[in-house]
Amino acid sequence: MINPNQTIGFITGGQLGQMMIQSFLPFRQNEKIFVLDGNENCSCAPYANEVFTGSSKDFSTVLEFGKKCDTLILEFEHVNIEALEALEKLGKKVFCQSKYIKIIQNKGLQKQFYTENNIPTASYTTIKNKEDFIQKAQNNTIKFPVMQKTFLDGYDGGGVTKINTIADIETKAFNTASILEECVHITREFSLICGRDQHGNEFQYPLIEQFFHEKTNIVDCITSHCEIDSNTQSQVKTITHAILSSFTGAGLWAIELFLDTNRMVLVNEIAPRVHNSGHQTIEGNYCSQFEQYMRIALGYTVGNTEEIKPSITVNLLGAEKHFGKVRYEGIEEVMKLKNVSVHLYGKSETKPHRKMGHITVQHNTLKECWNTIKTIKQRVKVYAL
Ligand code: ADP
Repeated sequence: MINPNQTIGFITGGQLGQMMIQSFLPFRQNEKIFVLDGNENCSCAPYANEVFTGSSKDFSTVLEFGKKCDTLILEFEHVNIEALEALEKLGKKVFCQSKYIKIIQNKGLQKQFYTENNIPTASYTTIKNKEDFIQKAQNNTIKFPVMQKTFLDGYDGGGVTKINTIADIETKAFNTASILEECVHITREFSLICGRDQHGNEFQYPLIEQFFHEKTNIVDCITSHCEIDSNTQSQVKTITHAILSSFTGAGLWAIELFLDTNRMVLVNEIAPRVHNSGHQTIEGNYCSQFEQYMRIALGYTVGNTEEIKPSITVNLLGAEKHFGKVRYEGIEEVMKLKNVSVHLYGKSETKPHRKMGHITVQHNTLKECWNTIKTIKQRVKVYAL
């Protein structure tokens, strides 16, 4: 099954692809690495045999790129689906498979999928556009506040907005097909990373807890495990089982979960790939999520997901009002601290909230990790020159 002389194509070439390649280097044989990205200096570029510039949304760009490769690895789900289907018909291996990407790239289909498979999720309705939204609100069929999430192209909090009243629709709503989701009273947010290799072996990582930036809603910190009561544990177990029995093929799924004030666990969304919530697995777990995905895609058996030590990751985001060539402050200083691993993604330009890197801390307890994280957050800044 393993072909050491194959060409692996990454669509696209951002930091997730970069960390997958880095995890693959120790067991790379003669494989070639090709990358398709809009930017020839993308994060994967230094590792690639060739970088092809073009849009991952364009049918012929993806098709022509894919024809040059044997295995395609997506680090981003907003890729031209027809091209992926055509490539699978040509015998190319695509991770994640197009039938799953199709569901996941559209939030409307994703919600429908949860309902059909008895996977608990926040209740919702759909709208075609702003006019439809206003009409439904005037007919009193919508209970405010609601979270509007566009069907397509939403990620990192983009394409998501909270609408509090009818008056808000005019000024804040997106004028496109969307779901309107009830506003969940969230107490905690988790991420469950699980999946299956091509031999049918299943795996899951310890349940991860995510902490978000209040203002931007982007993940700020992630802990390698978390304390949850037995009721929550059993709900998570049921959800894991439901996901793995609905997605029957090989793949890695990162499932974002909410715990609400009624202690119900709800699925927010699924990413069919390595995820921002699993960076701490690089140092914190025997087999990182990145190595795991490479193992799955290339036909190896999955690795050990257990924690080596408790770890916490903090994301390094571009500071407010800073645009242009990046300048990191405080990196040298925090590298003097014990058990601190710095990852910079090689992006030359920063802008507010852009994910520029992350830092992982490992200690004997999460409490000790939090203390170091606090220092890092005070010292490290991502500014423009
Ligand atoms: P994206 O696909 O851009 O990551 P998400 O659907 O994950 O968007 O939403 C981003 C964040 O917004 C979530 O992590 C959560 O904090 C908040 N959020 C999303 N949906 C809801 C909801 N139904 N109720 C309350 N908060 C929500």
